[in-house]
Amino acid sequence: MDKILVIDDSPVQSEFLCSILKDDYEMTACHTAQEGLEAARRGSFSLILLDVVMPGMDGFMLLQELKSADLTKYVPVILITSLADVQYEERGLLLGAVDYVTKPFSPVIIKARVNTHIQLYHYQMQFKEQAMVDELTGVANRRRYEGESMARWREAIRFELPFSVCMFDIDKFKMYNDMFGHPAGDQVIAGVAKTASAFFQRSTDLFARYGGEEFVAVFVGSDAQPAYEFMKSVRQAVEDLHIPHDPSVSQWVTISAGGVTIVPKAEDKFDTYLKLADAMLYDAKRFGRNMVVWSNQNREQWRER
Ligand code: GH3
Ligand code: MG
Ligand code: MG
Repeated sequence: MDKILVIDDSPVQSEFLCSILKDDYEMTACHTAQEGLEAARRGSFSLILLDVVMPGMDGFMLLQELKSADLTKYVPVILITSLADVQYEERGLLLGAVDYVTKPFSPVIIKARVNTHIQLYHYQMQFKEQAMVDELTGVANRRRYEGESMARWREAIRFELPFSVCMFDIDKFKMYNDMFGHPAGDQVIAGVAKTASAFFQRSTDLFARYGGEEFVAVFVGSDAQPAYEFMKSVRQAVEDLHIPHDPSVSQWVTISAGGVTIVPKAEDKFDTYLKLADAMLYDAKRFGRNMVVWSNQNREQWRER
């Protein structure tokens, strides 16, 4: 059931709103803007009904707060005004409210407007979600990776956690396409993604298709050596799929991976280490493929052969 937050200083009004909507939605009521703001940040509401005229922080100030924070800015806000408050409506709509209802309420109109905006909210969320997912593989796409990897990096700095970034790439994949065709190649990319993504299921893990037949993984909490061992098991799992390759290349489809683990400091640049991971991947290719090569802060290197 979708959750709706009602913020209105009048208990009578908010109770009335709740009674109109409670059969279809899970209702929460707050009687000050401050309380409402805290509730909006905590809860996952699909819609907020906001009274404009309230003592202390008013509806406009609250609306600005809601619209300025990532956590709350997508939640649609419907303003509650009285008929005399036309100029308030204007201001509220300009500040980003999606709609308004006027007091005294018509239950039918409120229900209809609420239903419409909740439906639109779901479409919007679905659209946003799809824009972050790679269509072929169903894993995170490059766009999502760009946003989330930086968030993980900053968390690692803040909590002084070891941070690993790993680039990996299917070996001699051009030859695979040449022999088996592009559609078959697509299936391989999807299969490799599925196998690898099963290894990155912690809430702090990030696994994405970087582009083409290249993937990137970001994870926190493991030191360099365990991270390297972990990635070796990912590489092995792909080999164990036993997808036949062009026999002149190798028996099975394999991947090469390059990674780095560091405990980042505020002055460090993520890009430096992404480049280092890429250099390790280059080494893995150079040293014979189907291989993991790993490094750390001190540029020590681990590799399989
Ligand atoms: P290496 O071992 O050095 O990585 O060799 P490679 O042939 O895999 O590398 P290269 O970068 O030369 O070629 C990558 C190939 O991956 C070229 C392209 O045909 C194929 N490829 C990239 N994206 C896709 C895709 O979405 N689907 C399919 N089927 N093939 C793709
Ligand atoms: Mg009021
Ligand atoms: Mg390749």
